Amino acid sequence: PYVIGAECIDTTDMSCVEECPVDCIYEGDRKLYINPKECIDCGACEPVCPVEAIAQDRRVSDENEPHIDDNRRFFVEV
Ligand code: SF4
Repeated sequence: PYVIGAECIDTTDMSCVEECPVDCIYEGDRKLYINPKECIDCGACEPVCPVEAIAQDRRVSDENEPHIDDNRRFFVEV
């Protein structure tokens, strides 16, 4: 699945939400989250993010590596 990284914190531009064909991007307190169980890996959200916060989990930057688990936890707790 795709993952939203730290760049999204306090940005929450929402362009990706409009782009996602399966509506699997959800709003948290300070950033957006992609539900890993619903994401179909289409990649549509990645280029529309103005702060380049989105990447496929296999390609996330080292500093955004913790956000893979953070995204997953968000959906376990809600
Ligand atoms: Fe939605 Fe596609 Fe982005 Fe997954 S990769 S969050 S399905 S737009």
